[in-house]
Amino acid sequence: MSNTDFSALPLSPAQFEALTALGYEHMTPVQAQSLPLVLKGRDVIARARTGSGKTAAFGIGLLQTINPRFFGVQALVLCPTRELAEQVSGELRRLASRMANIKLVTLCGGKPFGPQVGSLEHGAHIVVGTPGRILDHLQRKTLSLDGLKVLVLDEADRMLDMGFADSMESIISETPKSRQTLLFSATYPENIRKMSASIQRSPTMVTVDEDVGHADEVIEQLFFEVQKHERNTTLLALFEHYRPANAVVFCNTKKQCDEVAKILQEYDIEARAIHGDLEQRERDQVLVQFSNNSCPVLVATDVAARGLDIKALAMVINYELPRDPDVYVHRIGRTGRAGETGLAMSIVIPSETQRIRKIEEFQKQPCACDTLPSLDRDPNYFLKAPMVTIQLDAGRKQKLRPGDILGALTGDAGLVGTQIGKISIFDQWSFVALERDALRQAMNYLANGKIKGRSIRVRKVR
Ligand code: AMP
Repeated sequence: MSNTDFSALPLSPAQFEALTALGYEHMTPVQAQSLPLVLKGRDVIARARTGSGKTAAFGIGLLQTINPRFFGVQALVLCPTRELAEQVSGELRRLASRMANIKLVTLCGGKPFGPQVGSLEHGAHIVVGTPGRILDHLQRKTLSLDGLKVLVLDEADRMLDMGFADSMESIISETPKSRQTLLFSATYPENIRKMSASIQRSPTMVTVDEDVGHADEVIEQLFFEVQKHERNTTLLALFEHYRPANAVVFCNTKKQCDEVAKILQEYDIEARAIHGDLEQRERDQVLVQFSNNSCPVLVATDVAARGLDIKALAMVINYELPRDPDVYVHRIGRTGRAGETGLAMSIVIPSETQRIRKIEEFQKQPCACDTLPSLDRDPNYFLKAPMVTIQLDAGRKQKLRPGDILGALTGDAGLVGTQIGKISIFDQWSFVALERDALRQAMNYLANGKIKGRSIRVRKVR
């Protein structure tokens, strides 16, 4: 038994079973450092980003404290975005899968109030959500935090960046002082330090040395200094030269995202833009398509890329560098995960070279620069996804489960299991990834056939 085995922790048999079922054998560094403290009820401040296993680092801890016989909110997780809240809820549900009668409710904006109130009335042990909506519920007295035992602030730095400081303070003032407070943040600026000091009790700081240190080991960073009119040519050349299986292109504005996605599409690179102006359903669609291999390129603003959980991202491109070097490190940290070498390419025009200097200072090493002519061009290049996504107009609320969809497609519709990719179930709709060749057969069946005895409307997501 090594000290990174989960068996080194005092966990219940149900928790061990859930971890085994998930295939988690060893703790990730942030889990190994924080879980022993979290399980002792200590306050922890952890520097860890998405992809580090941070959700389980607080999730395993908070689940241990829940008493299912007490019908009140005992744990609250605050997240900056709806995508992250959904992702955290999913992971907590999986971690709790072998524990009986634990109820979790996700409360985010952009969703109708009524059903959330209904779920809360049925009793919730765990609430995960975004600060604005949670504060709304507290003010309407549809949510009480009097019995709270554990408070988690996930991606606390982003919540502050997004202007949630006041809402967070109001929410925290409604929780018992005796609570355990776990603060997770990718960065540790002054405002986080201050916040920790005001809401945590003798917290232990856990730092997983992966931000900068890890970045230079497994991420190849290159900066292309070009003229303003060469930005798009350089972008295309980067795809043609490096031929990544997938990529996220970061832009600084929403308008830029739309324009860049359009250019890529014109050049046969399948890309979707994602930013705050999209409706929730569209955002879900884009994130699902990217994560289930039916859209290889995402063009995103920083905020929109928050909830992204991609294990093998081949390349990150900065169409324009961010002003803040911290944001740069955060962006490029999305590639090169899980022992894979990542590529982080940045396009820089003369008026932005000062941003490179700031990144050099921040990373304490010189940045490697290259030029456009060094990139091989390929006029026949294209990038198409291996899968396509279909959307079914039924979801969790209609009690649809992945097994029902898989059963219908591999049973009556006659597909083989390998033609079907990730199945994602949302409240009112579901998405299924299919191999391109299997699309027609699946659509033909679903247009007339039934799933769980019901006809369900289906369409291909574009
Ligand atoms: P997170 O940083 O919480 O978003 O987690 C990143 C990914 O790692 C998620 O897909 C988790 O399911 C997965 N994960 C978390 N902990 C472990 C572990 N100990 N072993 C293997 N995978 C893990």
